[in-house]
Amino acid sequence: MTSTAGVVVVGGGQAGFSVVSALRGAGYDGPVTVLADERHLPYQRPPLSKKAHTGPDGLRVDLVPESFYRERDIDLRLGDDVIALDRTARTVITRTGTRVPYDHLVLATGARNRPLPVPGAELAGVHALRSLDDALAIGRALSTARAVVVVGGGFIGLELAQVAAARGAHVTVVELADRLLSRAVSAQLQQHLRERHERSGVRILTGTAVQSVEGSEGRVRQVVTDRGTLPADLVVYGIGAAPRDELARDAGLAVDDGVIVDERLRSISDPRISAVGDCARHPHPHAAGLVRLESVQNATDQGVLVGRRIAGASEPYASLPWFWSDQGDIKLQIAGLRAPADAVHLVAGDSPERLAAYAFRDDRLVAVETLNWPAEHLAARRLLGRDTPVRAADLAGSTLGALARARRATEVRT
Ligand SMILES: Cc1cc2nc3c(=O)[nH]c(=O)nc-3n(C[C@H](O)[C@H](O)[C@H](O)COP(=O)(O)OP(=O)(O)OC[C@H]3O[C@@H](n4cnc5c(N)ncnc54)[C@H](O)[C@@H]3O)c2cc1C
Repeated sequence: MTSTAGVVVVGGGQAGFSVVSALRGAGYDGPVTVLADERHLPYQRPPLSKKAHTGPDGLRVDLVPESFYRERDIDLRLGDDVIALDRTARTVITRTGTRVPYDHLVLATGARNRPLPVPGAELAGVHALRSLDDALAIGRALSTARAVVVVGGGFIGLELAQVAAARGAHVTVVELADRLLSRAVSAQLQQHLRERHERSGVRILTGTAVQSVEGSEGRVRQVVTDRGTLPADLVVYGIGAAPRDELARDAGLAVDDGVIVDERLRSISDPRISAVGDCARHPHPHAAGLVRLESVQNATDQGVLVGRRIAGASEPYASLPWFWSDQGDIKLQIAGLRAPADAVHLVAGDSPERLAAYAFRDDRLVAVETLNWPAEHLAARRLLGRDTPVRAADLAGSTLGALARARRATEVRT
């Protein structure tokens, strides 16, 4: 399939990379252009919050080397952001004034961090973490920081708390909700997770609101909360992200906390435009309504689907959602979509650090959260992806690993 203007991808992150690599992998031979605002080659974000980075050489995160794009004739343009879409002329316009025409446009613009909405957030020593440049700045700050306050008990905050603690800092996590990871994991599992963090020396304050950040000579010195003041020479906040959907909204596409797409990830307002990854809100067979997911799995699989679709395939998006978060020596993994679950069963593994939470809706297993139990996570991914549901009774006194083995044995016999 050859075309004149080809495919333009806005955003050079996980999902944008996945689109262009799948396009070429599926034999698409038209022009492919990636317009990326960052100056780095497309890179992975997960290591940014998990490694004790010290300098540019201490963090190798490129998804592939530059030669990958050259060899596949992918025109990767770094350091210029797209500021407008002209849907009538089928052209995108960049900040430097370049106009790039498209036959098909893919929005892969990701998400941006929610700002810390308190006085003092602009002081030196207060950081958010999203980009490689943010991670390098935090890495430098960690080499001298003694007292670190992490605002937000979500995945990124908890990962960074462990990185900072491993570098010898006194770390306090301040979370507004009455528990950690309140949107992402069950209350049952988070209690164990919290205890593990506390055992490693990280102090956790839940139900606590940050009111301001105070400093002297332009640098942070302390964080004021509604339950007291915490000394701080480094503050890192991770209080959620919002999709970068403003290009779509300004161009008149349907947007509602993300670009709204159909089951083939095309904008419901314009079939020549797709959206993938953190910026897309999409239907999913495992979800009650539309969902927007922020994960490497979702960005990768959606990119693959759109790349293949533009090259001629036609399948709806139905990949099982899964996620991981490494918090020091705690490996949290999630398969499936938990909310809304009506029952959660906690199951201990065969060693003290292993734990699983099975979440059921209408007596059907819908999600599995595990701590330090990768085999159980993989069994969950195998079983949740199947048509045969897993009922609570199937798991009485058993694990998913054992159930998966038993079902495989039955399949082999029949
Ligand atoms: C610190 C951190 C740790 C994470 N850890 C995990 C993890 O352990 N496991 C997991 O599953 N997920 C993790 N994630 C989430 C995962 O990285 C994201 O879900 C994934 O990167 C989404 O891919 P994306 O391509 O949609 O967005 P991104 O990777 O964010 O890429 C979007 C790119 O588009 C660019 N862009 C935006 N607007 C424009 C524009 N107008 N013009 C040009 N370029 C533009 C952005 O600058 C960015 O480079 C983590 C995220 C962060 C920030």
